[in-house]
Amino acid sequence: MQTFTLHTHNHEQNFDGHYSAREMIQAAQDKGFSTIGVTNHLMVHPNMPAYTYDMPMFFSDFNKAEKVYMRHIEILQNLKSDFKIDIKIGFEVDFFTSSEWRRNFEKMITRLPVDYLISGSHFLKTKDESFLCNIFHLKQFSPSIDKETMHHLVINHFENIIAAIKSGYFSFIAHLDYCSIFGLGEDKKYDKYKYKILETLEQTKTPFEINTSGYDRINRPHPAPWMIQEMSAKNGIVPIVISDDAHFTEHLGRHFAEAEALLKQLNYTNRFTPDMLKKP
Ligand SMILES: [Zn+2]
Ligand SMILES: [Zn+2]
Repeated sequence: MQTFTLHTHNHEQNFDGHYSAREMIQAAQDKGFSTIGVTNHLMVHPNMPAYTYDMPMFFSDFNKAEKVYMRHIEILQNLKSDFKIDIKIGFEVDFFTSSEWRRNFEKMITRLPVDYLISGSHFLKTKDESFLCNIFHLKQFSPSIDKETMHHLVINHFENIIAAIKSGYFSFIAHLDYCSIFGLGEDKKYDKYKYKILETLEQTKTPFEINTSGYDRINRPHPAPWMIQEMSAKNGIVPIVISDDAHFTEHLGRHFAEAEALLKQLNYTNRFTPDMLKKP
């Protein structure tokens, strides 16, 4: 059984976890975990939609964001000496393809002393990134998108994940089919984009996660088991990591037994370990 987690969240500075970093780390240590990685959201883009302006986790200004991210790192560094468990400091990054975003992101990340980054794609966006919307907020803030537009937004979403994999920034890629929680990208016509994602993982040998939060929401992990099976069939050359994506202490290690059983059933033996984390 995997006894570490590398994808968790906490609530300091109004990130979207529900417990403090200290509470999360203590709970992981009490569970007997060897390592906890803390990966609050890094969501910053000049065209962040106006509805996010009063939401403290979303930034349209890289300088403002950097101050908050630096504090995230300090909070965790200060806790290290209080615990036996190994604490890794990371971010779950929403990657964007525009050269402006990449230039700003790369500049910022060289100043942030993190252990690793993971890629989590949560946005729908147009190709030129003039329109962005967190999929979580879609119904509330962009309810009137027509079918054809939505189709292209979903394709762009999958293509953004492919670009994130190719960027080489990330230790592993989180929840490849996140949009399926919201009933998006489920139609068979999107399978070719999912295959392209899997091919890109294989070509770049980029690790990915089996995210167990899905068991609580749609009765299966992310990505869908068939996608994990496809990767297993590719001689398992890409390491896989089980992630709880814990926002609560009670989430730590959730459904790890089911995920382990699934990986065994799919004969997926190439496993990611914390020593494989790479500094950006
Ligand atoms: Zn996520
Ligand atoms: Zn997450």
